[in-house]
Formats: sequence, structure tokens, C-alpha cells
Amino acid sequence: MSEQRASERRVVIVGAGAAGDGAAEALRKTGFDGPVILVGRDRHPAYHRPYLSKQFLRGELPLDRVPLRHRNDYEKLGIEWLGERTAIGANRAESSVVLDDGRFVPFDVLVLATGGSPRWLGTVPRLDNVFALRSLDDGVALKQAMAEAQRPLIIGAGFIGAEVAASARMMGKEPLVVEVAPVPLGRALGEEMGQVYARIHRDRGVDLRTSTAITEWIPDGNRVRAVRLGDGPPEEVDLVLVAVGIEPEVALARDLELPMGVGGVLLDETLRAETGVYCAGDIAAHLHPVFGRHLRVEHWQVARKQGQAIGHAIANEPTPYHELPWFWSDQYDVNLQYLGNAAAFDQAVWRGDRDGERFSVFYLQGGRVQAVLAVNEAKTIRLSRELISRQVTVDPEALAAESSDLKELVR
Ligand SMILES: Cc1cc2nc3c(=O)[nH]c(=O)nc-3n(C[C@H](O)[C@H](O)[C@H](O)COP(=O)(O)OP(=O)(O)OC[C@H]3O[C@@H](n4cnc5c(N)ncnc54)[C@H](O)[C@@H]3O)c2cc1C
Repeated sequence: MSEQRASERRVVIVGAGAAGDGAAEALRKTGFDGPVILVGRDRHPAYHRPYLSKQFLRGELPLDRVPLRHRNDYEKLGIEWLGERTAIGANRAESSVVLDDGRFVPFDVLVLATGGSPRWLGTVPRLDNVFALRSLDDGVALKQAMAEAQRPLIIGAGFIGAEVAASARMMGKEPLVVEVAPVPLGRALGEEMGQVYARIHRDRGVDLRTSTAITEWIPDGNRVRAVRLGDGPPEEVDLVLVAVGIEPEVALARDLELPMGVGGVLLDETLRAETGVYCAGDIAAHLHPVFGRHLRVEHWQVARKQGQAIGHAIANEPTPYHELPWFWSDQYDVNLQYLGNAAAFDQAVWRGDRDGERFSVFYLQGGRVQAVLAVNEAKTIRLSRELISRQVTVDPEALAAESSDLKELVR
């Protein structure tokens, strides 16, 4: 396949979100002039999902600002966009995917960028005021319902739950947030940062209940009217958002018998699962050259950049993908940014003013910085990039001192 001229190859991209759209666009920007087919289950062309829990939900951003792409953009780019079409199977021997309208789409190169679907809890009733949040249509439905609600219940205090709680509070609602873990955002940020976020939410009036779960659902017709937490009294609520994470969409990868691990598809350093098959975004477990292990990151910029890198790799040659994972989350006036990956660390060095909500945390392993988290300190992220990518040993005391120049520490 690699001997075939680039322009003779037919590229099929399944999943037209952050990563899939990024791959399609990059192919054209790089001068690839062969056929590109972009298959997407969503009826809308790609859009900015991050707005759905923030500015769009709060009514600060109109619907027409949410799209990342318009229908005629794909035409202009010469990309065949098959919207509202699901790939329901993939055939390895025939190098094709089959769509829900029965069509077989052959490929020379396949990009899987199928993202994830909101996880659902079996005990949650599917009633009219119960929502999940992933797609634009979900976002529109939640926004309409939130406008009417006063006491929304948010199940799960991961990023989406925490952001929706913050938005609801900023809209003058009285959100009740239920989290089984002892702190919000604990899975992504650890216990200590979770405590910081618990305080951020409680100080701003969120009713955050941690280490607890819903034991009873009390309906009223087609709506949830109240829930019971543990053995407590009924809590009246008027809207429910289930925000307990995603299930990566890996059915096609399984059909193709691709290697699986870390909750997604195991990739090499060049984002390939095997010759001619790439994956990007929430399903991609990439063997990261800086960290030497497979990382799967469920964040926007990672998906976008991986998709773009794949576009370049297909048009040219696959090369190791070095970009450090980076993400952000905005809750109230608190901007969090995170660079790197600290799945393993033996020391956390704090720098700045924790109580004043302006600080950074450096996560070290063996004296080397694995990740930096910055709250209202975007500059630290920018200055720390080399510290992480060059994996030099640094002095923790110097890191902690606000007077020290982070760029100097690299040298
Ligand atoms: C409300 C919300 C807020 C967020 N906020 C932030 C944030 O502030 N910061 C941040 O870093 N990240 C944020 N994220 C996460 C970020 O949006 C995701 O990590 C990113 O969209 C993942 O990109 P992806 O391309 O892998 O998946 P997606 O963007 O989900 O795209 C996958 C697409 O594939 C389609 N698809 C799936 N299976 C098939 C199939 N078989 N056939 C055809 N199409 C298929 C899906 O319908 C979907 O459109 C947020 C996510 C949500 C939902």
C-alpha cells in the first residue's frame, strides 16, 4: 500500500467530529488530491463540542457560532461528506466499511475517529427531563430544559458534570451534584486537586454531595420529581443530567481485530494501528514517544491535532507524533489548563497562590516533569512545554519558587 502513489489511494474517515474533520481538512491542506470520504453519524457537520457545556448552554454564544464546519465547506474542499450515516461494520479481508444504508465503502487507507458515547447508568430512568450531553442535538435539548429548571441534578462530577454545574450556577440555578468518589474531578486530577475543585464549587453555591449515590428515583408522570441519596430524605429536582463519562466507540476496531488496550485502540508512535489504518481522538491509545507508554486522552485539542497529524502522515510519510497532550476546562472564572500526562508521578510541586485560585502544579517522576496543571496561569503552561518534552531533571525547590524563570530551568 505504501508503494501506491498518495493521490491514487482512497481515504475513508469514519467519524466526522474533532479528529475526523481535522484529518480530512489536513489531507487537502497538504495537497492530497485522491478521494476522501468522511462518514459521520451526526446530522450536523463538525462543531465545537466544548461550547455545549459552557457558553452555548448559558446563552452567551448563539447556535450559529457552534459549527466548526458548514456543509458547503466539504464541497469546496472536495471531501465527500456522508452525514447522518453510520458505519455498522468493517471488513478486513475486503478493506471496506459497510454503512447503515447497506452501502459498502472500500478504502486503501482507513481513519477511525469515532469518539465516544455517553455512559448510561442502568438504574437511571429514561424520562423526559433526563439528559446526557455529547452531541449538538443533546446540547440544544439540555439548553432548552435548563432555561426552565431551577434545581438541576447532575450525576457525576467529571469535567462535563463540573462544567455544567458551573454554568447552571452562573445562570442562577441551584444545582445538586452527586458524585460517588470523595472529590470532583478526582479521576483526571487526583485527590488534592479534587479538593480544590470541591471548594471552588461549594464557595460558589453548588450543593455538591460526594461519596454518595442515588438510591431511589421518584417519578411524577414522565418526569423525575425527586431522588433519594443514600438513606436521606427525598431531594426535589426538576432536571437530570447523567455525566458519568463515555464509552469509546470501538466496534469497528474490533471488527478489524485491531489491538486493543487502555480503553481504546493501541497505536504505534505514528498513530497507526496497522499499515493503512490510523485512529485519532477519544478512541486512540497512542504510544507517546516522550512518555514511552500508551496514552488515551479524551480531550478536544488532542483529537484535533492527532487528526491533523494523520492527514499529513497519509499525504506524506508516517512519522512519530510528539505533540504533548494539552487540555483546558473553564468553570466560572477558573481556567484550568493541563499539559503532559501524569498517570505516574512521585512528587507534586505547587507554585503560586492556591487560595487565590492562581497557581500551578508540576507532577514529577524521578525528578522529571511529566505534566503541568495551571489554574488561571496559562503562561506557566507555555513556559513548561520544553521542561516536559525534553525530560530534563529539575530542582523541585526551584520549580516551587515563583521568582524562578521556568525557561532557565530547562537549561
Ligand atoms: C459537552 C462537552 C464539553 C467538552 N469540553 C471540553 C473542553 O472544555 N476541553 C477539552 O479539551 N475537551 C472537551 N470535551 C471533549 C472533546 O470534545 C472530545 O474529546 C473530542 O470531541 C473528541 O474528538 P473525537 O473526534 O475523538 O470524537 P467526537 O468529536 O465525538 O467525534 C466522533 C464522531 O464520530 C461519530 N461516529 C461514532 N461512531 C460512528 C460510526 N460507526 N459511523 C459514523 N460515525 C460515527 C460520532 O457521531 C461523532 O460525531 C468536551 C466534550 C463534551 C461532550
